[in-house]
Amino acid sequence: METYFEHLINATYQAYQDILIKKHGNIYPLRSAVVKFGGFQLSYNWHGRTRLGKEEIGNLTIYTKEIHLNILFAYCLAGLKSDIPNFTDHFGFRKLINTIAHELAHCLMANYKLNFGQEHGTEHQELTQDIEAFLWTLYEVKELERLQNWKELVKGLG
Ligand SMILES: [Zn+2]
Repeated sequence: METYFEHLINATYQAYQDILIKKHGNIYPLRSAVVKFGGFQLSYNWHGRTRLGKEEIGNLTIYTKEIHLNILFAYCLAGLKSDIPNFTDHFGFRKLINTIAHELAHCLMANYKLNFGQEHGTEHQELTQDIEAFLWTLYEVKELERLQNWKELVKGLG
């Protein structure tokens, strides 16, 4: 599933980068070519997080971006139940898609100015909504949603 999330995150990131470049002009050299998916981690503080960094190679600076998702999303995807109140509201599929959109909005805004990457203002909110709507149109998202039907899936497990 690491491959799935790395693919989904980067396919969406590239599509949105193209849209934003058309709208606001080119953003090189702050632009990152890829967003790393850092995996699922347990956190009591966040649904997802974006880490912005930079790497210097001689005179060249490469800006890096990494997204982590709370491991409770993975448990929910795996069909596990929890004592956490309203578990599926907090970590279910809809919230997962919303969280990916939220973190991607941070990444895309950081391409323009590094500290834009930390903001939660109107721009970030609007971009999150746009990306979320885009994500729901993707085959990748529809297929993962279909896979949430565990009752059917277990019959076919090899
Ligand atoms: Zn945020």
